[in-house]
Amino acid sequence: MSFENLDLHPAILHALQEAGYTEPTPIQAQAIPEIMAGHDLMASAQTGTGKTAAFTLPAINLLVTPHPARSRGPRILVLVPTRELAQQVNEAARKYGKFMRSRAVSIVGGMPYPVQNKLLSQPLDILVATPGRLLDHMERGRIDFSRLQMLVLDEADRMLDMGFMPDVERICAALPSERQTLMFSATFDGVIGKIALQLLKKPKSIHVAAPQTKHENIEQRLHFVDDLNHKNKLLEHLLIAPEVKQTIVFTSTKRHAELLSEDLIAAGHRAAALHGDMTQGARNRTLTKLRHGNVNVLVATDVAARGIDVAGISHVINYDLPKFAEDYVHRIGRTGRAGRKGTAISFAAHNERFALRKIEQFTGHRIEAAVIPGLEPQRKPQAAKPGAKHGHKHGSGKFTGNKFGGNKFDDNKKSGFKPRQNQSYGGQKRRDDGKPSFKPRGNRNFA
Ligand code: ADP
Ligand code: MG
Repeated sequence: MSFENLDLHPAILHALQEAGYTEPTPIQAQAIPEIMAGHDLMASAQTGTGKTAAFTLPAINLLVTPHPARSRGPRILVLVPTRELAQQVNEAARKYGKFMRSRAVSIVGGMPYPVQNKLLSQPLDILVATPGRLLDHMERGRIDFSRLQMLVLDEADRMLDMGFMPDVERICAALPSERQTLMFSATFDGVIGKIALQLLKKPKSIHVAAPQTKHENIEQRLHFVDDLNHKNKLLEHLLIAPEVKQTIVFTSTKRHAELLSEDLIAAGHRAAALHGDMTQGARNRTLTKLRHGNVNVLVATDVAARGIDVAGISHVINYDLPKFAEDYVHRIGRTGRAGRKGTAISFAAHNERFALRKIEQFTGHRIEAAVIPGLEPQRKPQAAKPGAKHGHKHGSGKFTGNKFGGNKFDDNKKSGFKPRQNQSYGGQKRRDDGKPSFKPRGNRNFA
């Protein structure tokens, strides 16, 4: 099957050729004809399977036919959960619409209103938005939806998780009812399925499932960790390996992302944090640095890193395991992009086996445990040695307090691991080979 079979306008085919796409992905091959036939759609497929183009291509194709109305509001609205995703969809729309006269604009939170007001006052075809900010503008009467023909809800399950559904429903209620609605979601189980039935009219349903065969180009493994000290040593060991080009390290909270990135920078790594408390400008600058290779360790939270598409990411490290099995798939999908090979490494405390099992069930893929000589886990003996009872929340997965204070507890004797040098803090330490070495600062207090 080739794109030529899909009845897309030659200008779009030209753009696809330039993008280097030779054939549609399965979700594209299935969804595009249904969308072009005018059906509502509920579609689910794994991350990285090309869902953006699956809706963007037929959406742009719609623009080939001029709209009879004189007004200038958007003809296509795409709602997404995060700013990063908005930007990616916007870029995709521009890329695929390169040889057509179409205008795409994105409106997200965290950007100045005057700039957005100006964007919205000009004629536009495609509007990509996060729900909250869009609703703000709608309530101020700044958007004319009289021409709206198509609504796309991308990552609908995530919008539900993030509490955007009331906003989404209000937006939908304000749009022309004769529109076409497309909904993309990792799953349509439970609440999101009910919402789909409310929002969609006689939808076609497409589910591309191949969890066992997906991510074949991503090597997955895990390390059992005893405690934070152990985690930090493993992280350091992994980051300085020569095959590690660019890495995304996932932490469970924004704060931890911030602090871990600070520690990595202090240790001489070109690290940066990416999380939802940063301004849009700061996030963009960080992503640009990542794209250009000026940052090679990005410490990120799930939401902020979702959808990042940087071909140079060779490794994903789950410093903290994700809360939801589905997030695991989104995380590891940041590597192995554009047909390259990737490696995903998870750290798991011994008592996180249940969470691991859930991930394995979700992906249908067993994650093998690996050990690094000298950094093997030392399962705590049942009867703790005297002095070993240091009140450390051992592998609780929550690690309250003293998050990066691993050095407080000298596990080295137990593990037989010899630190390269005496622990010292505050200086930029470099190894002889010029690779930075990571020394977590001790006694960080998070309370
Ligand atoms: P999803 O939304 O399903 O997670 P994306 O739409 O972000 O996936 O696409 C993942 C990557 O695949 C992007 O880098 C995109 O440019 C690329 N891609 C999409 N469709 C094709 C195609 N038909 N051929 C080659 N690459 C593609
Ligand atoms: Mg997507």
